[in-house]
Amino acid sequence: MKMPFSRYCLGLLVPILLLAGCGEKAGDTSTAAAAAPEVKTYEWKMVTSWPKNFPGLGRAPETFAEYVNKMSNGRLKVKVYGAGELVPGFEVFDAVSQGSVQMGHAAAYYWKGKAPAAQLFGAIPFGMNAQELNAWFYYGGGLELWREVYAPFNIIPFPGGNTGVQMAGWFKKEINSVDDLKGLKMRIPGLGGEVLKKLGGIPVSMPGGELFTALQSGAIDATEWVGPYNDLAFGLNKAADYYYYSGWHEAGTALEFMVNKDAYESLPKDLQAIIDVATQAVDLDMLNEYTARNNEALDTLVKREGVDVRPLPEDVMSALKKATKEVLAEQAAADPVFARVYESYKAFYDRVKAYHQISELEYYLNRQ
Ligand code: CA
Repeated sequence: MKMPFSRYCLGLLVPILLLAGCGEKAGDTSTAAAAAPEVKTYEWKMVTSWPKNFPGLGRAPETFAEYVNKMSNGRLKVKVYGAGELVPGFEVFDAVSQGSVQMGHAAAYYWKGKAPAAQLFGAIPFGMNAQELNAWFYYGGGLELWREVYAPFNIIPFPGGNTGVQMAGWFKKEINSVDDLKGLKMRIPGLGGEVLKKLGGIPVSMPGGELFTALQSGAIDATEWVGPYNDLAFGLNKAADYYYYSGWHEAGTALEFMVNKDAYESLPKDLQAIIDVATQAVDLDMLNEYTARNNEALDTLVKREGVDVRPLPEDVMSALKKATKEVLAEQAAADPVFARVYESYKAFYDRVKAYHQISELEYYLNRQ
């Protein structure tokens, strides 16, 4: 993102500073001041898949807008819209692709109908955690692949936060065996839904804002959402009795910023750099927020709300793992782009997992 200093000066600074910083002759002062160009400002819209200001997910786009406004000294203003304010939560991708808005914030697995490989940039069952997935994006070729997959849609994606390991979800009845998944109508996005289907369940797709009503009314039997921090915010504990872990289907879900390519390319280089850096800052900030808030919220759910928190039985977990392998093989066989991206994902995962076995995991098992 480096640029020649003279271009930086021309693009960024008002003429009087331009004279001082870029070595113009002193005699040009009056002419330059008289011809002072207006500072060009940009007003962008960002639509999201979340309720406005929702903890974590909905805070990230607001934080992004605040960072960009400050860093650009008001030259780039981004107005954030919650799901349904301009477009429904599941139409964010189309809105950014068509250019009716400049940006979106969502999760890549929502767009599996547009490009099956998109799911690999959100979360895959039993896949990489937050730390590993970010490493793949930034140092393992993942982001380049992501941009390639979104290029036909005129969208430039950026990692836009991570929830960390999620929870398996809220169930209205106990899950004691794989048979209990048969006929289970559960809201679960992406590949996790395909895995559930393989075990006889019925995956349902719906935006977060509709979950509480759907679960409470019995339209669905179970739902996953995110984790204690977000699940408590929706009051999901009031709609189902059992809270299962762990989030086998989403071990470190990446969120995404999407920028319309034409809009991005219309910006001067320094504003493009501000977008690049702000997305990275928000990416880290969201994970920090979840790490801090999830444990507090779980404490509240258990101690104040009396929630029954339990692990999924081992045989259920084993069946989910086996079904995941089959689903991933089927997806790769059906779509060459998915196959190529998954090859990169898996190669990176295998390497990082081997080291994390003796570093992160060993430390988790032994720490006090
Ligand atoms: Ca989730």
